[in-house]
Order: sequence, then C-alpha cells, then structure tokens
Amino acid sequence: MEEHAPYIAVSHLSTVHNKTGDWRAEKPVMNRTKCNKCSLCWTYCPETCIELDTDGYYRILYEYCKGCGICVEVCPRKAITMEMEYKPD
Ligand code: SF4
Ligand code: SF4
Repeated sequence: MEEHAPYIAVSHLSTVHNKTGDWRAEKPVMNRTKCNKCSLCWTYCPETCIELDTDGYYRILYEYCKGCGICVEVCPRKAITMEMEYKPD
C-alpha cells in the first residue's frame, strides 16, 4: 500500500471562515509609536488577520489571530510584542 502524509483539513486563509482566536496563549500587541508602516507584518501573517487601518497603520483582528508570532519576528522595528492572553492570578 502506498504511504503518504496525512491530509490536513485546513487551508491557507481558513481562519477567515474559522475563528481561531481562542487558540492563543499569547497575543501580539502593536506599538504604533515604533511602527514605520512597512507592511511586513501584513505580508507575512499566515492568517491574513492583519489589516490596514484608515490612518495607514496596521491592526490585528484578534478574532482570527492564532498567536503564531510570525508578525513579531518579521517586524524590523520591534513594534510588535507577544503578551500573555490571560494574566495568571
Ligand atoms: S500572531 Fe501575528 S502573524 Fe500570527 S496569526 Fe496573529 S497576527 Fe498573524
Ligand atoms: S512590520 Fe512592524 S513596522 Fe512594519 S507595519 Fe508591521 S508593525 Fe509596523
């Protein structure tokens, strides 16, 4: 019998339809005073849950953000940090 990798029941942009915000342990938080509007976070977010705001800055759609941290890694200005989703007692 031929073996293959297991099929995955999700696809790119799946969180547009499936809200995965509840998966997060940490959430990305943007500091607009450091942001230069380069758009790299928007480009690399695998869930396309970063969108351009009306003032030219970017904002995170937390309903869909799964907290992978890629936006933090690609930001050249260190304008995004990961913070605990729920502060422990
Ligand atoms: S952590 Fe950043 S890159 Fe990852 S899903 Fe959330 S907004 Fe997108
Ligand atoms: S990657 Fe960083 S500097 Fe660039 S738009 Fe996003 S938050 Fe701003």
